[in-house]
Amino acid sequence: MMEKAKQMKHSKTEISRGNRDYGCRCPSKILRLFIAKVKNISADEVMFGMDELQFSPTELEQLEDFIARYESHEPVSKILNRREFWNSEFFVNADVLDPRPETEIIIERTLEIFAKDQAFDFLDIGTGSGCILLSIAKEFPKSRGIGIDISEKAAKVALKNKFDLCVENAEIKNVGWDNFGPQKKFDLIVSNPPYIKTSDIFGLDDNVKNFDPHLALDGGRDGLDAYTQLSELTPNWLKPDGKILLEIGFDQYDDVKNIFESKGFSLANVHLDFQKIRRVLEFTA
Ligand code: GLN
Repeated sequence: MMEKAKQMKHSKTEISRGNRDYGCRCPSKILRLFIAKVKNISADEVMFGMDELQFSPTELEQLEDFIARYESHEPVSKILNRREFWNSEFFVNADVLDPRPETEIIIERTLEIFAKDQAFDFLDIGTGSGCILLSIAKEFPKSRGIGIDISEKAAKVALKNKFDLCVENAEIKNVGWDNFGPQKKFDLIVSNPPYIKTSDIFGLDDNVKNFDPHLALDGGRDGLDAYTQLSELTPNWLKPDGKILLEIGFDQYDDVKNIFESKGFSLANVHLDFQKIRRVLEFTA
């Protein structure tokens, strides 16, 4: 009994110390997520069981590490190694672009193009975490997806997500775009390629420029390198009635439209994001 009382006292002291030390360094909602990860419990359990929680020195050290990383502007998703995208939670780390909500437009549009039970082949170019590839594959169980990425580390993350999310109808290949020799043609090609001008990268927010891989951001001198390359490669990879859905930067509509039209594509649709910015372009061959 004495032992138990002592333990409780200890635990309350630790918690209040945690709150006092950490409360002003990060919002309580985020602190709860960090505590949940350290203790391997849910954020709700943290909320309702706060008084009961005890921290070992190692756990306090881990919590301190999370908070220090938060203070250095590392995104919470990267600290927790997870990010919600569409209907799933993806493992993310320093090797992949943090999935963004506007990229979900690609999934929304794919759901309008194909029926849920339709069988089709699709390709995700620069798959990163695999968020687009695996979300489409999950929505369309009869589809067959391939995701390619030149980064070996990114391809490993996508593969981990494929296994964690139990997706069987998607393959991941660690290959550069120009070395990808597909065995078949695709009904749909999707991509959220790197589209930031090299010279703009240093002006991005710390949480982007310091924590998203530059390979996933850098679109070359004018930010358009990836689109030029895609416009040259994809005609050989698309079926005659195939479609392309491409995410673009906020000011790239005219340039990307021109690049693809000059290669014989037609702009079929333009999809706006939440801020009414032209964010996803849809081309037909
Ligand atoms: N396809 C991934 C995403 O949309 C990665 C994109 C990238 O690395 N540019 O998040």
